[in-house]
Amino acid sequence: MTGDQLSGVRGRSSVISNQLPDIRDQKPETRNPEPGTSPAGIYIHIPFCVKKCPYCDFYSITDPSLKKAFVKALTAEISMYGNSPHIFDTIYVGGGTPSVLKADYIGRIIGAASTSFSMAPDSEITIEVNPGTVSPGSLKSFRRSGVNRINIGVQSFQDNILKFLGRIHSAKEAGSAIKWARSAGFDNLGIDLIYGIPGQTKKSWLCDLETALRFEPDHLSCYMLTYESGTRMHKDLKKGIFSSMSESVTASLFGSTGDFLEKNGYIHYEISNFALSEDKKSRHNTKYWAFAPYIGLGPSAHSFYGTKRSWNRRGVKDYINDIESGIMPVEGEEELSRKQQIIESVFLGLRQIKGIDIKLFDSKFDTGFIDIFKDTITALNKKGLIVLDENRCALTKKGMLLLDTICSEFILNEF
Ligand code: SF4
Repeated sequence: MTGDQLSGVRGRSSVISNQLPDIRDQKPETRNPEPGTSPAGIYIHIPFCVKKCPYCDFYSITDPSLKKAFVKALTAEISMYGNSPHIFDTIYVGGGTPSVLKADYIGRIIGAASTSFSMAPDSEITIEVNPGTVSPGSLKSFRRSGVNRINIGVQSFQDNILKFLGRIHSAKEAGSAIKWARSAGFDNLGIDLIYGIPGQTKKSWLCDLETALRFEPDHLSCYMLTYESGTRMHKDLKKGIFSSMSESVTASLFGSTGDFLEKNGYIHYEISNFALSEDKKSRHNTKYWAFAPYIGLGPSAHSFYGTKRSWNRRGVKDYINDIESGIMPVEGEEELSRKQQIIESVFLGLRQIKGIDIKLFDSKFDTGFIDIFKDTITALNKKGLIVLDENRCALTKKGMLLLDTICSEFILNEF
């Protein structure tokens, strides 16, 4: 897994309604983004992991017996989208742990997507890998299949932290995976790290960052450990088996992360994401933050097209059964109301360091951002949580730690 799961930018809607219309016999074309809009993205969810990490609440299973049937179903789902009029310029193979699949399966999946969808020639094709599930050979095969970006879920370069996180790999194996990925020809390589581990000091966290930089990654995602309800770590925390890091220490580590990485030449472009140059920002994830259309394939994957969102069945067996019966494995769909769209625009805009593009917001919603949110903006600005100029409204470093609270303040407005 990578931290995208932790940041909740995919696989989950923050505004899902309870209404689940019966749409499973819809034609796939109705789930395609409108032609003429910006290039769309494809997200492919691989729902298998070797072992469940105690902090993870994203959908995956550890029983490998369904892998073959799943790949067959997934390629069938992909082909259901044949003849899409839209241009796509990103594919993101995430999960779960895509690298638990044989390299040959990944090749088949990428091949099916490239055949069924109109892919732009310079498409970004990303795979997430777990260092405990790769070899020099598998990484070379991924690259040969057309994958041109790799995200390695390192999480830490310290074995005691990896043990606490329940990871299946060691720090040494993480280093080897990075070197093998470079040798396999990946010149767009990202490393995911987690901080905010109980008992972690600033020195220990900076040590992880320093080690990461020795590998000169093109991209870094630094996620704060969160305790999602239903996870084993959440239960252990509630039982008092360990104590979470205090808010003040977490805030200090967040600040140190930005300071350290910016000093070392990285562009901080989203709350948890840093790129070595503009062209190394995650093009796919930027689509989520920019409200661009994307199609989600595989169990539990979400799609967004225009003002609609839909989500696939979660269980791998249910997903396979649906496809084998010739029906779309879609569980629900919702049309976002104007209010929901505005809330999502604010939330996703504020996640980005450049903030909300006010002119774009005004023209999209045919209203004035400042007019609607004047009082909220003034109050948050006085508290030093947001900054505003005539073009943009963005969070300050202090505000970034309070994204959810700040968004709740915006929601309270009438619009
Ligand atoms: S490897 Fe761990 S964190 Fe990643 S998806 Fe699987 S269980 Fe979740």
